[in-house]
Amino acid sequence: MDKGEGSKSQTETAVTGVPPLEEPPLESIQRRRFLGASASLASAALVPALSPGLALGAERVSAGQQWDQQTDLLVVGTGAAGSCAALFGRRAGASVLLIEKAGYYGGTTQKSQGAYWIPNNALMRERGLEDPRDDALRYMARLSFPQLYQADHPTLGLDEADFNLIATFYDHAARVVDDLAAAGVLRSTFFRGLDGTDFPDYYAHLPENRAPIGRILLPLDEQNRPGMGAELIRQLHTGVVDAGVQVKLSCRAERLLLDELGEVSAMPYCKNRKRGGFRQRRVYSQSTNAAQFSARPGLRWLHRSGRRG
Ligand SMILES: Cc1cc2nc3c(=O)[nH]c(=O)nc-3n(C[C@H](O)[C@H](O)[C@H](O)COP(=O)(O)OP(=O)(O)OC[C@H]3O[C@@H](n4cnc5c(N)ncnc54)[C@H](O)[C@@H]3O)c2cc1C
Repeated sequence: MDKGEGSKSQTETAVTGVPPLEEPPLESIQRRRFLGASASLASAALVPALSPGLALGAERVSAGQQWDQQTDLLVVGTGAAGSCAALFGRRAGASVLLIEKAGYYGGTTQKSQGAYWIPNNALMRERGLEDPRDDALRYMARLSFPQLYQADHPTLGLDEADFNLIATFYDHAARVVDDLAAAGVLRSTFFRGLDGTDFPDYYAHLPENRAPIGRILLPLDEQNRPGMGAELIRQLHTGVVDAGVQVKLSCRAERLLLDELGEVSAMPYCKNRKRGGFRQRRVYSQSTNAAQFSARPGLRWLHRSGRRG
């Protein structure tokens, strides 16, 4: 197969036949539907993990609090995770404000290789590469939780939440990438070496790994060449802007405010040293990687200096 072949039908779908993102009336927002989409997109944004939430303090909203802006959904961070959250929020009909503390769009994602690990993805299926669910879950459980993994345990030795997380990732990650392709936002291709051979999974040799090649995808650029993180961000940013997401750069989320039900309802911010506040129905926050690394010297010491132990 040549380099562009794997992505061909996905690419073609992306540019034909799929209507642009629409803006349904606010009343039609279905909270459950939106939250479901947010959860699955977070799992599909670059390889790992659902965000544990923004590492910010939370306080009660004070009476008489003034707001600069109201929105249905406030998304924090313009990396792959935040961009996808914003996009799917718009698709669910929400008004979305996406804020970024840096003066540029894209976060660490922009500097990364830009490879996304998507089990049982459409390109694999088109190529006849199988990725059975049971084995994929075992592979993810063994690699993510090596100290807990038990092959014969009903949840593979993991607690139920962690097991459900990896199962959700298997069940939805490919669908999210398909949706982004169908909406004309993101074109994907296989990760291949310079000689054109498929890049294998890092642990391709493990018996649980029934799909040693095909899960690692890269964005496909306008010349149909595999791109990196900058290309991934270029496509997601275009999609975000086209979808009508409002983006504010140099805008740091500082604190969460909770309403009387204890739900997050507002997030004060600071933009160019001017303080203000947003009020929204839902917050999607992203702080899995660099966001926490930049704020925590201990994490940098542990994971970036080769002294992991
Ligand atoms: C050289 C390199 C190569 C990599 N290659 C890969 C790879 O190929 N595949 C892979 O899966 N991973 C790779 N990674 C890791 C990858 O960068 C992360 O997995 C990915 O970027 C995480 O995306 P994200 O959206 O969660 O975070 P980011 O892209 O870091 O986005 C988070 C954003 O949130 C913003 N932010 C944080 N706090 C606030 C706040 N309070 N208010 C406003 N904004 C805030 C940050 O400024 C940032 O822009 C690589 C990393 C590096 C450094």
